[in-house]
Amino acid sequence: MNQPQVFTGRDPHDGRPIAVRVENGIIRAVERGPEDDETWLSAGFIDLQINGYGGDDVNAGDVNAETVISLAGKVVATGVTTFLPTLITSSEEQITAALRAIAIARQRSGLVAQVVPYVHVEGPYISAVDGFRGAHPKEYVRPPSLAEFGRWQEASGGLVGMVTLSPHFEGIEEYIAHVIARGVHVSLGHTDATPEQIQKAVDAGARLSTHLGNGTPATLPRHPNVVWTQLAEDRLTVTMIADGQHLPADTLKAMVRAKGVDRSILVSDAVALAGMPPGIYDTAVGGRVELQASGRLSLAGTDYLAGAVLPLKDGVARAARIMGGALGDAVKMGTENPGRFVRGRGVLRVGERADLVRFTMNEAQNTLSIKTVVVAGKEWEEGEPWR
Ligand SMILES: [Zn+2]
Repeated sequence: MNQPQVFTGRDPHDGRPIAVRVENGIIRAVERGPEDDETWLSAGFIDLQINGYGGDDVNAGDVNAETVISLAGKVVATGVTTFLPTLITSSEEQITAALRAIAIARQRSGLVAQVVPYVHVEGPYISAVDGFRGAHPKEYVRPPSLAEFGRWQEASGGLVGMVTLSPHFEGIEEYIAHVIARGVHVSLGHTDATPEQIQKAVDAGARLSTHLGNGTPATLPRHPNVVWTQLAEDRLTVTMIADGQHLPADTLKAMVRAKGVDRSILVSDAVALAGMPPGIYDTAVGGRVELQASGRLSLAGTDYLAGAVLPLKDGVARAARIMGGALGDAVKMGTENPGRFVRGRGVLRVGERADLVRFTMNEAQNTLSIKTVVVAGKEWEEGEPWR
């Protein structure tokens, strides 16, 4: 139906100039490209954890399908071609309302249907202990319920595809096995579980750790602790927030070294104030917060972080610099590695859906400048949001 298109640039993995030929939304060929093209070209970024962006918030009390459609457009503009709207701990009513809104948005908008494969529910089955719980409201933390999981899926047409939980609960293996049997990925996070409890969860099928190194108190036992156990467990792939605020550079580097690049994923964990101008904002959940130009969002007048505000592309740029200029590795942690949890997306390969991003690197500012975003073969253009 549509004309063949060709996108060119350098492959971040080896610097080779490539030309990707696209037809009917599918990659038909990856060939040698023009030598003089200095733009980078990779699979579109994949973000497994987005709460909001540009003022749109999937955790807002009044979230509706239009919120989700608007959010998708803003996220795609940052080079992300697949993302998981992430619902945090809340009442069952609020979680199912948000799931319904996302399901409706996928029906109404072709873009949302393409870029939102499923939803990540982070909580409410997490540690109630301060520090481990992070910013999740304590009143809604509860033990896992298969009945509730069933109601989430019923409300959304089976849209929950990833859950973050703490495996300290009695009988958690049964819950994990049940949801995995239904195609849901289980990630461990906001947890004060013992090494034995983490091991049991992994034996039951948990394969991810959510934003490792965050969702823990400032002070942990030197060892054992949840960070070491998850770093050492080779069956766990870890996600990390690379905004330069949530993990210091040496911590991020040491974690990637410990897990290996293949088991490392970058996420934004962006909140609604991401992409907004610096200033003081009043928020429904966090109260009065201050957003600084550096990308630090804190409770006003304190050192406490109130969420992450940088898009994944900036995390990729930062990780590349921290890892000694390894752009290919950083891109892999933002494309292919998360893609393994989203139906194998995130690779430039013949026969795959044509999700592409062209960008240049601005090392000094820890960011990438996005030149072109392609979702399922269609070029994204600002101001012309295709629905
Ligand atoms: Zn979290």
